[in-house]
Amino acid sequence: MALKYCPGARSLVEPQIIVAYCPVCGAEVEFFEYEVERKCPECGRTVRREASESCIMWCKSAAECIANLRRLGALPPERADELERMLKEKSKQKN
Ligand SMILES: [Zn+2]
Repeated sequence: MALKYCPGARSLVEPQIIVAYCPVCGAEVEFFEYEVERKCPECGRTVRREASESCIMWCKSAAECIANLRRLGALPPERADELERMLKEKSKQKN
């Protein structure tokens, strides 16, 4: 069976939920596996997760890949928006 998208995109299409704990207040913070940073729902602090970065963080085709997944309907539009926002922030940090 031919894949319609890159295998790395599995974590974007069917992300696992990973629970981490806020270092400030100890609240549970749920991450999608492609996320490395999220706001604590209790205290609003940014919680970082030690994680291997999702392929979208280093793949040169990431923007294209997300656009493709969006076209295929493999990603809900709000998740595609979020990933594109993450990409933009990542490129801002590099400069
Ligand atoms: Zn907290």
